[in-house]
Amino acid sequence: MSAVLDRVPKGLLVAGRWRPGAATFVVENPATGEALCEVADGTPADALAALDAADAAQRRWAAVPPRVRGEVLRRAHDLLMERIDEFALLITLEMGKSRAEARAEVEYGAHYLRWFGEEAVRIDGTWKVSEDGTARVLVTRQPVGPCLLITPWNAPLAMPARKIGPAVAAGCTMIVKPAEQTPLTTAALAEVLREAGLPDGVLNVVPTTRAAAITEPLLRDGRLRKLSFTGSTPVGRLLMAQAAGTVLRTSMELGGNAPFIVCEDADVDAAVEGAMTAKLRNIGEACIAANRFHVHADVAGEFTRKLVARMESVAVTVMGPMIDERQRSRVAALVDETVAAGAQLRAGGVVPDGPGYFYPPTVLTGVPSGARISREEIFGPVAAIRTFTSEAEVLHAANDTEFGLVSYLYTQDLNRALRMVERLETGMIGLNRGYVSDPSAPFGGMKQSGVGREGGNSGINEYLEQKYVAIDAGRA
Ligand code: ADP
Repeated sequence: MSAVLDRVPKGLLVAGRWRPGAATFVVENPATGEALCEVADGTPADALAALDAADAAQRRWAAVPPRVRGEVLRRAHDLLMERIDEFALLITLEMGKSRAEARAEVEYGAHYLRWFGEEAVRIDGTWKVSEDGTARVLVTRQPVGPCLLITPWNAPLAMPARKIGPAVAAGCTMIVKPAEQTPLTTAALAEVLREAGLPDGVLNVVPTTRAAAITEPLLRDGRLRKLSFTGSTPVGRLLMAQAAGTVLRTSMELGGNAPFIVCEDADVDAAVEGAMTAKLRNIGEACIAANRFHVHADVAGEFTRKLVARMESVAVTVMGPMIDERQRSRVAALVDETVAAGAQLRAGGVVPDGPGYFYPPTVLTGVPSGARISREEIFGPVAAIRTFTSEAEVLHAANDTEFGLVSYLYTQDLNRALRMVERLETGMIGLNRGYVSDPSAPFGGMKQSGVGREGGNSGINEYLEQKYVAIDAGRA
């Protein structure tokens, strides 16, 4: 364990050099509450130095052939897969998810690098005759320029990979600001990209405990051309307001409040299986985690009984701890408040003794409509179940939120599935499937869950600008 930690750079990556910070902060292991190591605490001056480096490298990097950019990403993918165990250990140490889930995250993140490595050579343009025939319309696409990538703690490898991949493929330079809880995996990922051949200055990394203080001067600086953020909706709103000052291009992956709908004609066993994934993956600490379970009254008894049995069979120490005490007490308070409002506690719900920030898989039924647990992101292993009796009722309830990231729908009726898929107001839908994340698919939300998409055929466009050249066609 300590050998893995020893190898991780603990400084700030600026212009291809890891340098120490003026101060440091402690990174904690959430399973024990103990310190893992100390990392440089970036300042506004460090952030501006990183922008200087990104700006200085931009023109040269944009001119590097697409195949070369793509091969850097492919090599980085291969290196990550070779070192999957080492990366998984690092993720488990600083974030808490199980080794199996951490390995799955490394693979998922690496696949984004591979996917965008393949996209780098497929950036194309168009040529056409203008409407009136007097001009030729040439449309080309160019890198948007230096980017600021702000990432959360819940997937410390996959979240930066999902942004770095398309930025590198498009020919952009960047500054990554990892979450303060999980800077180590990002630092190790940056090292892998350098080893894979990424030139100095293309990728700069500034860990910090003062996110707002270092991002504000960057967002005000006209050299920065793009902000990509994954995190909570309140912080996303704030950053979008700041980005307005320089009319900065933004991609926003914000909060979710996913409904998980089980219709009366569903395969209940499959729905329980899907619910386990959609609820417990990442310890429930995911924007795509199922947040509100809507189960038809005819199958609610069977679904709940089977879900409770499955949830109770998961040992809390195997599932992993919550990220910190703040998150754990927030989740515990949400559960207690819902029970006090009349819901029944069917599993879990009690904070275990001992070190670390563990909270057990928990099931609540009879959740009153309008309860805070149905309006807010739980971000923990808690399934809050309500029943419904009609399709119209459940569609209204599912869409009754400012969020619109993902919904999960279990039904075997094809017509119903089509009807409901068209009416659900979310950017992604898991139809008879509890898992939607896929590098080849557009990940992102509607409404206040965000702007833009990551992955899929259009993912690289977030990092490209269109440029149109009107060419005079002359006279025959
Ligand atoms: P979470 O509640 O999951 O920690 P946040 O939205 O607070 O989600 O954090 C996501 C990322 O945004 C982290 O990297 C965090 O440091 C950063 N962040 C939080 N507040 C701000 C802010 N005011 N300005 C810029 N970045 C911020």
